[in-house]
Amino acid sequence: MLAAGAQATCWPLVARAGRKHHPVVLLGFDGVDPRLVERFGRAGMLPNLMRLARSGHLGPLASTSPPNSPVAWSTFATGRDPGEHGVFGFLTRDAGNYLPAIAPYSISPPRFSPYRAARAVSRRQGRDFWQTLDGRGRSLTMLFVPYAYPPPRLRHGRVIAGLGACDLRFTNSSFTYYTSESSRAGKKSRAAGGRIVPVQVVSGQVRTSLQGPWGPGGKPLTLPLVLVVDRRSHQVTINLAGQRQRLTPGQRSNWFKVVFTAEGHQFAGRLRFHLIEVTPDLKLYATPIGLDPRRPALPLGWPGKWLSRSVQQHDLSTVGWVHDTSAVNAGVLPAEVFLQQLLDTMQQRASLLLREISTALPQVTLAVFTGTDRAAHMFYRQLDEPRGGAIGRVYRLMDDIVGRVQSRLPAGCQLVVMSDHGFHPFDHQLHLNNWLVQQGMQVRRRAGQAMKFLRGIDWSRTSAYALGNGQIYVNQLGREGKGTVPAGPARQAVLEKAAKTLLELRHPETGRRPVRAVVPVADRAAAGVRDRAPDLQVAFAPGWRSSWETSLGGAPATGIFAPNPKAWCGDHAASHEPETPGFIACGKRLRKPDPWIGDLANSLLALCGIEGEGRGRALL
Ligand SMILES: [Zn+2]
Repeated sequence: MLAAGAQATCWPLVARAGRKHHPVVLLGFDGVDPRLVERFGRAGMLPNLMRLARSGHLGPLASTSPPNSPVAWSTFATGRDPGEHGVFGFLTRDAGNYLPAIAPYSISPPRFSPYRAARAVSRRQGRDFWQTLDGRGRSLTMLFVPYAYPPPRLRHGRVIAGLGACDLRFTNSSFTYYTSESSRAGKKSRAAGGRIVPVQVVSGQVRTSLQGPWGPGGKPLTLPLVLVVDRRSHQVTINLAGQRQRLTPGQRSNWFKVVFTAEGHQFAGRLRFHLIEVTPDLKLYATPIGLDPRRPALPLGWPGKWLSRSVQQHDLSTVGWVHDTSAVNAGVLPAEVFLQQLLDTMQQRASLLLREISTALPQVTLAVFTGTDRAAHMFYRQLDEPRGGAIGRVYRLMDDIVGRVQSRLPAGCQLVVMSDHGFHPFDHQLHLNNWLVQQGMQVRRRAGQAMKFLRGIDWSRTSAYALGNGQIYVNQLGREGKGTVPAGPARQAVLEKAAKTLLELRHPETGRRPVRAVVPVADRAAAGVRDRAPDLQVAFAPGWRSSWETSLGGAPATGIFAPNPKAWCGDHAASHEPETPGFIACGKRLRKPDPWIGDLANSLLALCGIEGEGRGRALL
């Protein structure tokens, strides 16, 4: 075994040692829909994918129920159903206090007095196939594989974390927006995924602060931030942590390095600014503060020197949720700026991938791009434009990356391109908690009031509640903190009533049915993960999803149906799985007519001469 520091220099030797099988490269493009691949392929926009598929295969890849990233990428990793790996969505809940929690892993921020460092723990059950590869001595490079978090420490591999890696506030991602708009004057406000800080320009200067992680006593650690605003020359000079950069509107800064200190402990990060406007109002967007790769507060991958060098050389962000959809939803980051940053990030990740496969191709390379998914979420309404608008542009970049990778691979190397799920429009939302009230299955302490985090429910008279993407839980006696419904026939009656009435539900004006299927989840889950599973998964028809409020156990004061008000206009997270497959393309015919994302673990193991486990079958 090589020491972590030595791996970086000895890598070519590790990569070539003991190779009996051809190398495999798997490129994942999150959320790529096979119908769009077909449409853009026919229009001549995806020449490299079409060439790859000519002698092999291109078609749908069955996803999971529900078809969303944490669930589907966990099935990719383990070759197992959600009922076995125990990740059922983005969120689960603490049954004791009904509070939402991240489903695939948990992150505990640092604690003070006495100090305890931040911790990250995976909640996923089962063995990830890369652990098997590594255990059998196969060399491996993993770039941004979603929810492979905390990043696995491989003896024969290199890893950079993707989705799951938090920012320095120990959140999924949290932007800051400084603005002198009079409409925002007054108190600082929180937006989903960020903070809006009203500022005043006094004598050409703004004195404000940058908020970092929470410190002792629950107070945020901050650094002074001074902006010198020159309205005549349309320039803003940013002064932060002893660094200074001048920007004009439309310009993005280089990385600012910041260190927050508390009780002698340091939290190092890096962020960029994007100046949106100077006049009439100052509008300055700051990215989430990524962990500094040289001394991250939580692991970002291994080996450390290679990771740190790669991040700096390729100008990469270390935040897992790298495309800041929240800032677009909050109306603070213009969509065209978001799109340009998304395309830049894809290019930067591609340049790292190309360097890796060009210098020393390991036995297995896994690289995942999430820009395809985020573009579809934010620009689905543009699909009717010529060449698919922004989504078409991002799909063309995907194809370009496939081509560049293909051209660098030696003969015999197996290239697989795939996605985890497909996409639908998201025009209408359903407030599941208000629907449960209407059905008499949920009672609020004060009728007609908006709700957040399930606060305000009269649990003694409630039999069901909703949280996450289309997930319904029975308020079960002995499982939930204030459970009322005994397991057995009473619980079964709640499940049957909810499923039957949801399937009969129709929109009062259009007469359309929002729900395609209601899938029992907990009853099909393995004993070890059953208590964290939702009881029912609502599978929505295209165009529909459970509401934004439902995601965090909320509801507006009234109403069951509502239009989707956000810029985020495409979705899949609570869609019907058979209608929402991902796609797969490779240069070989598949050995199975109905490929499933859970087949890939055993397919990659088989290509390396290793027999897998679980129900996944080798496709190649
Ligand atoms: Zn998505």
